[in-house]
Amino acid sequence: MNNPFTKKLAHMKIINPATEAIIRDIEEDMDETINEKFELLTQGQRTWAKVSVDERIAVIQKFYDLLEENKDELANTLTSEMGKPLQQSYNEINGARGRIKFFIDHSKKYLSEEWITTEGATKEKIVYEPLGVIANISAWNYPFLVGVNVFIPALIGGNAVFYKPSEYATLTGLHIRDLLCKAGIPFNCFKIVIGRGNVGEQLLQLPLNGYFFTGSYRTGKYIAEKIAGKMVPFQLELGGKDPLYVMDDIEDIDKAAADALEGVIYNSGQSCCAVERIYVHENIYDAFVDSYTVQCKKLKMGDPLDKNTDIGPLSRKEQQAFLSSQVDDAIILGATIKCGGKIPQGKGYFFEPTVLVNVNHSMKLMKEESFGPVVGIQKVKDDAEAIQLMGDTNYGLTAAVYSKSFERAEKVMQQMNTGTVYWNCCDRVSASLPWSGRKQSGLGATLSYQGIRAFVQPKAYHIRG
Ligand code: NAD
Repeated sequence: MNNPFTKKLAHMKIINPATEAIIRDIEEDMDETINEKFELLTQGQRTWAKVSVDERIAVIQKFYDLLEENKDELANTLTSEMGKPLQQSYNEINGARGRIKFFIDHSKKYLSEEWITTEGATKEKIVYEPLGVIANISAWNYPFLVGVNVFIPALIGGNAVFYKPSEYATLTGLHIRDLLCKAGIPFNCFKIVIGRGNVGEQLLQLPLNGYFFTGSYRTGKYIAEKIAGKMVPFQLELGGKDPLYVMDDIEDIDKAAADALEGVIYNSGQSCCAVERIYVHENIYDAFVDSYTVQCKKLKMGDPLDKNTDIGPLSRKEQQAFLSSQVDDAIILGATIKCGGKIPQGKGYFFEPTVLVNVNHSMKLMKEESFGPVVGIQKVKDDAEAIQLMGDTNYGLTAAVYSKSFERAEKVMQQMNTGTVYWNCCDRVSASLPWSGRKQSGLGATLSYQGIRAFVQPKAYHIRG
């Protein structure tokens, strides 16, 4: 009578955001299937923890190779389910492989036991033990990149992973599961949970040993509150409202405008570290706005499978109305559109790349995360005003400064309460550096050696005799 498979499973439709065609109708997990997977993961983790770090790394090396071998299918799936231009899907897979390579090369050093005291009566060492079974609740915008930040170091660290891909990147999640198993991850060390937020919610009920979340501030806060009493490690990689400031000493305005534009529109602006606000010194403001607008108007929006396409659709239909409401709010409060601003006619969840000027911080456009190819460009009279406006946000992910002078830029960067700062670049992540948000952009760090140690717990040995 309690057989879970006699119950009717809920279904979820996977829709191509460029064509609105249904790609797949897929069954969601439910309490019973999730509980069953959890039991298997608990058993699997005990065995996996006994496998040497070298052997675990060898399996991940195989996964790294399989990503390359299967990149055409993986890129096509990613583009069809979340809409990014095909070349950007290839870039994402290559980028994910770069991060995996970092973990392959550096994990052993940071997971090996450390002798602290070898002289005297009491010897001391630190041993790094796995957390256990961890949840990896993930976002759709870069499912490979944000996924490998978590499940690769978690697996190398000896954990089993309960992986919840976003409902907008489910097919990619299934590919990841299949390739990890093919590479040699035991079937009961990596399990996928299929479904929407209510299905992810079931993971919060389980006695998992760590929660690693990538997504919105709203969901991250909810999850953090819900699991607080478990007293297990958790990390949150959340949203941003990242500023870019252009100083008046830059030599190449067109180059700065091109960089800023790419930071705004890459992945249709659906990047946690996308440039979301631009401040420009008044001495070069008009020239910068002209250059940005001219370049923006040249962008080709359309079929993400066409190699000439710069901008694909948004991944979620509701985001069209959300961006429209930000643009409308800004216009009511005095902003002017330089280009874009509309939802084009026809199929697909497209939104024109949009530039607004005469903007200020009373407008939602300059305060709320947009997560689309939309930006406001605001004039500032000096560096002090730029610093004040850049810091006027609840988020703290990244901040970029363009200037000829590192010294001048550094004075601004030092005052940014963000996990990352950029000089003459933007919208980038390095596997060698910690990726972390402050304030409502998150808690904890992935990548770099911090992102290896995040998935293990230290045990202190006091050894006498
Ligand atoms: P989201 O918060 O809507 O969903 C994230 C994940 O949480 C999904 O898998 C979803 O199914 C799941 N979820 C939703 N409700 C849940 C619940 N009650 N319990 C458990 N799981 C639940 O976010 P999204 O739309 O997928 O991602 C976009 C957001 O992610 C943006 O704000 C973006 O800036 C942020 N993001 C941040 C980083 C970073 O590194 N800081 C990287 C990528 C994306």
